[in-house]
Amino acid sequence: MDSQKKHPRQFSFEFFPPKTEEGKVKLRETRNALTKVTPKYFSVTFGAGGSTQSGTRETVLEIQRETGIDAAPHLSCIGSTRENIRALLSAYKAEGIRRIVALRGDMPSGMVEAGEFRHANELVAFIRAETGRHFHIEVAAYPEFHPQAFNARKDMDYFAGKVKAGANSAITQYFFNPDAYSRFVDDCEKRGLDIPIVPGIMPITNYKQLARFSDACGAEIPRWLRWRLEQFGEDLESLRKFGLEVTIGLCNRLLELGAPGLHFYTMNQSGPTLAVYAGLDGR
Ligand code: FAD
Repeated sequence: MDSQKKHPRQFSFEFFPPKTEEGKVKLRETRNALTKVTPKYFSVTFGAGGSTQSGTRETVLEIQRETGIDAAPHLSCIGSTRENIRALLSAYKAEGIRRIVALRGDMPSGMVEAGEFRHANELVAFIRAETGRHFHIEVAAYPEFHPQAFNARKDMDYFAGKVKAGANSAITQYFFNPDAYSRFVDDCEKRGLDIPIVPGIMPITNYKQLARFSDACGAEIPRWLRWRLEQFGEDLESLRKFGLEVTIGLCNRLLELGAPGLHFYTMNQSGPTLAVYAGLDGR
């Protein structure tokens, strides 16, 4: 974990583009509340559908313009062509965007065309070829391994491929086992991969939703945690109180291990993330 300790500590917050007017108003309140803790950047997810893609751009531009804090659009291979990525990159460059989160993406049900880039490393290489060093590029990392990975070693090889293609830093899928993170970082160190690897944090607020997401993205909820969360049933207040304690404990352990910051999956809500942030040691 030593290589991580030298990177400056940073906090960042992720949103999804709101679809309704009400959602837009709520996101403005959320990002205004989160701006007070001066994050390094906000990021906005990207979907394969056309309206989600334009939503990402609109949301990112509004955030950067109105908060003065860097906003990073996510970009994915799925649903993209070389031509539309080229056009987006040049628009983002002209609009003063400096960071991008580059991903493969997941195929929405019913969609058949994957896109022209097969894997995130190809997208990273394309962004570098088109725009040189203009963008700070983040990629995804999986301390518990990607659900479609062939095996652990190959998944690490492919992660290394994204770094070699030009990624500046990585954000992990969320996880609840800090050992998985420190092992992952140690493996990266052994391979000479010296970029910040920032843990992705999912505040625990709703067990059913968390279980559904976790099954889909391959994040493991340890048995002890599942059992404890299940026992709260409809008692959401107790679940949130307990979830907050667990998340703060996880974050403090990660920072103690040397994590160079934390990236919060906010689900467009400020309350749970700010409550975790308030419990961090030495923030
Ligand atoms: P890749 O790095 O391409 O890896 C995908 C799989 O392919 C892995 O199993 C890997 O082992 C394998 N692989 C990688 N490279 C190669 C190669 N060259 N040859 C053969 N196999 C290879 N999804 C969205 O749709 N929109 C978002 O905005 C979004 N934001 C995210 C943000 C974060 C921080 C994270 C962690 C995930 C996000 N996702 C998002 C989900 C992500 O798109 C999925 O997890 C997706 O399945 C993998 O994306 P990736 O960039 O890690 O893919």
